[in-house]
Amino acid sequence: MRELATAYARNLPGLDTHSLMSGLDATLTFMPMGDRDGAYDPEHRVVLINSRVRPERQRFTLAHEISHALLLGDDDLLSDLHDAYEGERLEQVIETLCNVGAAAILMPDALIDEMLARFGPSGRALAELARRADVSASSALYALAERTAAPVLYAVCAVARLEAEPGEERSSEKALTVRASAGSPGVKYSLRAGTVIPEDHPVAVALDTRLPMTQESYVPFRSGRRMPAYVDAFPERQRVLVSFALMPRAAKGGENSEPGV
Ligand SMILES: [Zn+2]
Repeated sequence: MRELATAYARNLPGLDTHSLMSGLDATLTFMPMGDRDGAYDPEHRVVLINSRVRPERQRFTLAHEISHALLLGDDDLLSDLHDAYEGERLEQVIETLCNVGAAAILMPDALIDEMLARFGPSGRALAELARRADVSASSALYALAERTAAPVLYAVCAVARLEAEPGEERSSEKALTVRASAGSPGVKYSLRAGTVIPEDHPVAVALDTRLPMTQESYVPFRSGRRMPAYVDAFPERQRVLVSFALMPRAAKGGENSEPGV
C-alpha cells in the first residue's frame, strides 16, 4: 500500500486538492455526509468528501479515499488481502491500509526527512511537518515517529476536560493532557491519551508562556513514573507539540517500565 501510494504521489504535479485527484480517473464531490468522513464509489468513479468536517480532515480523507481507489486497482494486493482476511477483519485491515496510504501520499519520506534534518526529532519538527503537509498534528505524529531513528516519544498535548469522577455526570475541571502520542521504532512506551501534564512541566510552561521550551526533564507517565528525557515543547495555538528524547538507558526499558498501549 505504501509503495502504491508513494508511486501515485510521485507522479502528481502537487499536493493540493486538485493535484491530488489528477492521477485518478474519478470526480470529486463535497457534500454533507453525517458522521461519515468520505467514500469512494468505484462504479461511478466518484470520491465523496464530507464538507462539514475540518479542512485538514477532509484532506486526509481525500488521500484515504484515493488509497481505496489505488487498492481496488491492484488485483494482486487485493487478492492477497482476501486470502489472508475475511469479514469484518478484512474491512478493518483495508481501512488501516488506506490510512497508511493517505499518510504516504500527504507526507512523502523526503518531506519528513527534510523536517528531521532541519529541526531534529523535535516538537518543532512535528509542527512544521503538520503545517507543510497540511494535515492534523496527530496524523503527522505517527508519520514522523515512524521515520525517527533516535529513541523519541512524540505527543500532542492540549487543554481538555478531565474524565468525570464516578457519580459525576460531567467533570468541570480542565487540564493540559496528552491527546495523542507515538514513539519511534523500538520505543516500547507511549503516553496514554488523557494523561495529565503536571503544571510545572516544561510542556505546561510552554503553553502558559507561548515560548518554546527545550530542556532536560521527564516523560510524565500516567502511573506517576517520571522517565528522564530531553524535552522539546513547541506551543502552537491552544496546544503544544512535544518530543521526549529518551536518555540512552531509559530508552532500553527496565523492569519497572510502563508498557505502551
Ligand atoms: Zn476507508
